[in-house]
Amino acid sequence: MADSKTLEISELFYSIQGESTFSGFPCVFIRLSGCNLHCSYCDSRYAMEEQGRTVQVDDILASVASSPGVLVEITGGEPLLQPNVNALIERLLAIGRTVLIETNGSLDIADIPIEATVIMDIKCPGSGSSSLFPDNIPTIRKRASLRPGSTEVKFVLSSLQDYEWARDMVLVNGFPAFAPVLFSPVKDLFPIKDLADAILRDRLPVRLQLQLHSIIWPETLRGV
Ligand code: SF4
Repeated sequence: MADSKTLEISELFYSIQGESTFSGFPCVFIRLSGCNLHCSYCDSRYAMEEQGRTVQVDDILASVASSPGVLVEITGGEPLLQPNVNALIERLLAIGRTVLIETNGSLDIADIPIEATVIMDIKCPGSGSSSLFPDNIPTIRKRASLRPGSTEVKFVLSSLQDYEWARDMVLVNGFPAFAPVLFSPVKDLFPIKDLADAILRDRLPVRLQLQLHSIIWPETLRGV
């Protein structure tokens, strides 16, 4: 049982941030163990299937301090499953790091410190895991009023049907006005050109993003 100063970690590594408006920057990644969803295209299944290491927050901070750069991303799995994640965020912010946290949108984001940038992955039907926590949409609006850009909304698209679902979500909720929107095609399932054509056809103000790390290191499945 984890005490108040530990988290369960799958891996900690230094790489290129590949999937947000911070894409391209060197970044320290803290991948936490465990997930409550089972997405069909998951590329980090090991983070939920393998037992993580129990690591004290102080030791995580020491590892981060030994890596260059200021950007740190907490990802998973689903990081919000771990009760001490906000304590880790606060400690990272206190030492001057720019903190990103990627979440699958199924859990409440209200308690995440406003200084951290939330990348909220809204699951499309093709994931087989659609489960948006309803209050997260008003919380994104509230976060935007406190700090513009403090939440980014991401859709991972398996097909044109997913694209149309995501497009309607964007238009109904008016996301681009208060949160950057990222559209990312699932590799080998949804051709990039088809997604680009659809975005341009619909004049949708979203960012087409590719998984930069999987382009740079196509054969590497962990630690990038
Ligand atoms: S939420 Fe993320 S880690 Fe969890 S199953 Fe889906 S893609 Fe994998």
